[in-house]
Amino acid sequence: MVRFTVLASGSKGNSTVVSGGRTRILVDAGLSCRELFRRMKLAGEDPTTLNAIVVTHEHQDHVNGLSVTARKLGIPVYFTEATHRAWMRWLTPRRQMTYAQWLEACRKQAAEREAEPEIAASEAVNGECGSGEAEAEVQLEANGPAECDSAPSDTASDPGPAAPPSLKEDPTWLPAVEYFQAGEAFVIGDIDLNPFTIPHDAADPVGFVFCAEGVRMGFATDLGYVPPNVREQLRNLDLLLLESNHDLEMLRDGPYPWSVKQRVLSRVGHLSNDAAAEFLSSAYDGQAAYVILAHLSENNNLPELARVAAERALLGRASLLANRLLLAEQHQPLFGISF
Ligand SMILES: [Zn+2]
Ligand SMILES: [Zn+2]
Repeated sequence: MVRFTVLASGSKGNSTVVSGGRTRILVDAGLSCRELFRRMKLAGEDPTTLNAIVVTHEHQDHVNGLSVTARKLGIPVYFTEATHRAWMRWLTPRRQMTYAQWLEACRKQAAEREAEPEIAASEAVNGECGSGEAEAEVQLEANGPAECDSAPSDTASDPGPAAPPSLKEDPTWLPAVEYFQAGEAFVIGDIDLNPFTIPHDAADPVGFVFCAEGVRMGFATDLGYVPPNVREQLRNLDLLLLESNHDLEMLRDGPYPWSVKQRVLSRVGHLSNDAAAEFLSSAYDGQAAYVILAHLSENNNLPELARVAAERALLGRASLLANRLLLAEQHQPLFGISF
């Protein structure tokens, strides 16, 4: 059976489970591990059956729970190389220091460790040579490893020499990293993935077409507009998940600072209701049984505005009446759509 479950969608966290055959993929891990597991169970998905995590881009609302979730489940994470690097940079301390200072700090730590191994071990967490300045969210996760109690016990408790570094020692450590490239299809178990480039202000952002058991599911959020290559990809789909981020007037009149408004509105920002509707009424071929509007802004949009814009676009074309329109939500899962 093929199933598509949006666990969360929006600027506070994005995550979707795509299941096909014996394979289950988590697309982005934008919620804490605990919340991801909670929502998966709510939606009837077993977190321990996930085979891999696939990352669309490195923005926080897509990777917030990535390290913890991958470690808890011991599963590989698929990135483009540029996204992986950007993600690692995000987690790595930004403190500037000279090589001499760094060397001195390392020496000091080593000496402390020799003198007082117990104390030094805890201090090293905030030491100059460690990765102690990771983002607050990651620190929170690091402090709460019991968040995902129901997961199979991970190797963190393994006392053997091959034990991975703790989250505080190295927040960028993952059980396994696999690279893919936009434009080059690849396979995870029973699911084919076709990543394509999207215009967004991240290192190497992608959308996907997932295909399992002959069912094709398109996935495109976090894009400033719908360029020809994306229009090309989002055809012959059984399911289309498309960003409908903001209402233009609400954004213009809303509370965001001008610079943020400009960013959202830009060609590498987010797709407005009007832009999504324009795609649905023109380039979209109307084939999908389900159209899911996603990544709705809580500040600059209303579900009804997004729905009405999309409905108008779809109703404008008689052949599209069969499309079922759904809205993905930030605070609760959109229960499994099965084929
Ligand atoms: Zn983004
Ligand atoms: Zn996003």
